[in-house]
Parts: sequence; C-alpha cells; structure tokens
Amino acid sequence: MGYDVIVVGARVAGAATALLLARRGLKVLMVDRSPVGSDTISSHQVQVPGVARLARWGLLDGLVAAGTPPTREVRFDDGSTVLRGAFPALDGVDALYSPRRTVLDALLVDAARAAGAEVLEGFRVEELTFEGGRVTGVRGRARGTNALLTYTSHLVVGADGKHSSVAEAVAATRYRHRPPLAFASYSYWSGVPITTGEMYQRPGRAVAVFPTNDNLTMVYVATPLTAFADARADLERHYLATLDRCGDLGERVRAGERAERLRTTPDQPNAFRTATGPGWALVGDAGVVLDSITAQGISNALRDAELLATAVADGFARGDLDGALAGHQRRRDAGLHAMYDLTVDMARFAPPGLGQRHLLAAIADRPAEVSRFLGMFAGMESPAAYFGGGNLLRILGARGIARLAGAAGRLAARRLCPGT
Ligand SMILES: Cc1cc2nc3c(=O)[nH]c(=O)nc-3n(C[C@H](O)[C@H](O)[C@H](O)COP(=O)(O)OP(=O)(O)OC[C@H]3O[C@@H](n4cnc5c(N)ncnc54)[C@H](O)[C@@H]3O)c2cc1C
Repeated sequence: MGYDVIVVGARVAGAATALLLARRGLKVLMVDRSPVGSDTISSHQVQVPGVARLARWGLLDGLVAAGTPPTREVRFDDGSTVLRGAFPALDGVDALYSPRRTVLDALLVDAARAAGAEVLEGFRVEELTFEGGRVTGVRGRARGTNALLTYTSHLVVGADGKHSSVAEAVAATRYRHRPPLAFASYSYWSGVPITTGEMYQRPGRAVAVFPTNDNLTMVYVATPLTAFADARADLERHYLATLDRCGDLGERVRAGERAERLRTTPDQPNAFRTATGPGWALVGDAGVVLDSITAQGISNALRDAELLATAVADGFARGDLDGALAGHQRRRDAGLHAMYDLTVDMARFAPPGLGQRHLLAAIADRPAEVSRFLGMFAGMESPAAYFGGGNLLRILGARGIARLAGAAGRLAARRLCPGT
C-alpha cells in the first residue's frame, strides 16, 4: 500500500484528521478537488469545545494571529426575555471564535502539512478501489489533466462533506435522517460594530450576529424551508426584513455596508451515516450532518476527527485496525443525539413552549445560570440533561414547576373549552 491513510476532503474534518494521524507518525495523503483555503458556504462559529480542541492542538494562537476576534459574551433574545452572559470556560478557553473558513481551513491544512501529511489540491476522487469487498484506495484526476491516477492505502477516510461520494461508494447506511427543514442566508458587513455576539429567536426566524476577520460582522438568518419559494424572489429583502424584527438590528446593519454578496442555501440535510466499514471511515459532515441553526458542524467535525484519529492510530499501533474502529460509531454518536434532536426541533421553528419562557425568565438575572444556558447551546452540556426534570426543578423550584403545570393545564383547558 502507498499510504497508511488517504483522506478525501481537506477542510475542518479532513485536515484535522490528517493532522492528528500524521502527528501519530502515520503516512497520510489528503486530497481535495478545491484549492486549499478557498471559501465555502458556512457562517463558521466555532463553539467553545471546538476552540478548546484547536488550543490543545496548538492552533489557537494562529487563529488569533490571523485577526480572528474572540466572542466572550452573548446577548440572547427570544422575543420575551433577553439574556446577557458569558460562556463558561473549558480547558482555559472562555470564548467562541468565528474564523472565516479561508482562515480556519488553511490553518488546519498547513498544520497537517507541517506534521508530514502530503496534500494534493485540485484532485477529484472519481471512484474507490476495492479488493475482496475491502476499500484499497482512490482513483481520480488532477484538475486540467485527463490521466486517471490511483493511490492506495489501508484506510480511506471520507471527509468529503454532506454529499460524500465516499459514503455513496461504500453504501453507508443513513439513520435518524430528517429532511431539510430550514434555509439559511448570511453576509458580511463593515461598519456594524458589536460588543457581544447576538442571537435572536423570532416566530419562524432565527438570527445570529458575530464578529469575524477583517473587522467584519457576520449576520445570519434562518427561516423555515416552507417560506423559501416566496423568499427567493427577493432574498435580500427577506433577509433585511427579518433583521427589522430584531430590535434595532436592521437599522444598525443598514447603517453599515455590505462587504460581500448575500449567500443563501436550502441544502441543509440532517442525518447520521454508518461511521466505518472494511477499509473506510467517514468523518465530519460525511458522517453526521445537521442544520446550521445551532452552529455545531465545525465543532462536531473537530471532535469526530479526534475520536477517529485516536482509534485509527491505536489500530495501526496494535496491528488491528478493524478492531480499533469497531466501537468508533458508538463513541461518535454518544455525545451527539441530544444536540441533534435540539437542532432538528429548532429548525422546525416550533413556537417556544411555556417551559422555555419560564426558564429564561427565571435565569435572566442569575449570571451563573445564563452562563450554563449558553454553555448548553455551545455543546458543553447535553440539552437532554439541561432541559431534564432534575435541572428544571433546580432552576424553577417546586413552586415554579407547579405554576408551570398550572399554566399548561389552563392553556390546555382553554383550548378544549374556549371561554373558560
Ligand atoms: C449556511 C451554513 C452555515 C453554517 N454555519 C456553521 C457555523 O456557524 N458553525 C458550525 O460549526 N458549522 C456551521 N455550518 C456547518 C459547517 O459548515 C460544516 O459542518 C462543515 O463545513 C463540515 O466540514 P467538513 O470538513 O466535514 O466538510 P466540508 O466543509 O463540506 O468539506 C468537504 C471537502 O471535500 C471536498 N470534496 C468533496 N468531494 C470530493 C471529491 N470527490 N474529491 C476530492 N475532494 C472532494 C470538497 O471540495 C470540500 O473541500 C454551516 C453550514 C451551512 C450550510
């Protein structure tokens, strides 16, 4: 075999995997059909756990040196309550960063190269090679050439995104699949200074505002997919009209200048795929993809890369790759189900329940609780545990829960018997 591992896709998932494998001494080839560090559709918040991983890998300084501003505080406004607070710290990291993908992906690829991985840009994988049902390599073409080239390896990692052709070639099974539910639009603005990150929930809309490189402000809007047909006639109008629903945000944005075109995509599937098989593995969006509304994809990809690279390197070390990969899917999925379910719920834009309203009102003037709530949104605590009975009881107290139950009961009674 020419390589220990070939990684298809050189962005957050692929480059992180290649970096960690090369650092463990494996012979790695990473290919991508696109130029390294080119832009891609992504509004790119890296949540605190993702930033903590970058710090652990020695890459956070590079991100900061590239002029990526930290976001330590967030203003969260659901239309009835406004929370302001700071993220909890994890391994000494207390901020979210929103690096442009041109910055983040290039940083990871450079680090993978520095660790010894070979990188082939402009190389499109067209098919996988198999022997006795096992993947043995990739075949494809370099941009501008006709020659079909084959590279062989013990393992091929598909880090080739949500429409992964590696996943398709190995017929990886999809599960917990939900259809696209929302579309997203975002752009970059100059002259829109912000002092905190801003998040808004409005009926049928979600908005996020974060600072990014080059002194620009990224402004993101999510909308139910059912509104796409109407909105697409004038997406800019739809986008600005949404900002006008968020206090003075529309005004502040209009006072600035749009620095880049508005990007919009309805291509937001939600699915898990089988993570490994004979001679192959999937990482990042190729393995688990979810709507952008909770901004988890990059942090998930970094976590997934670390879990996979550890299993693969251990497998090579003990001469039992398949054995080492056997538990990988369970480990990958273990921390993801609750955030996946929350993401799908949010992308459905169900109106906030009484529970959420009571909860937010109860924590608004308790900084430690606001911090914990923001930490849950950042993926630092399972939403299932956070919204579980035990935690609600702790926050609202028995009387608060009783009031909530009473209000829910009255609401149900009013629905059943109007006029009561
Ligand atoms: C609108 C939007 C906003 C988002 N905002 C956020 C956010 O704020 N925070 C967050 O964490 N996540 C966000 N995400 C999700 C995030 O962008 C993805 O989770 C992340 O890009 C996944 O990284 P990846 O490396 O797995 O795949 P990708 O970034 O999709 O990279 C795949 C790579 O594979 C290459 N490739 C594909 N096929 C081949 C082939 N046949 N041969 C060679 N190369 C190939 C591609 O060229 C590409 O470079 C957002 C997504 C969308 C759509």
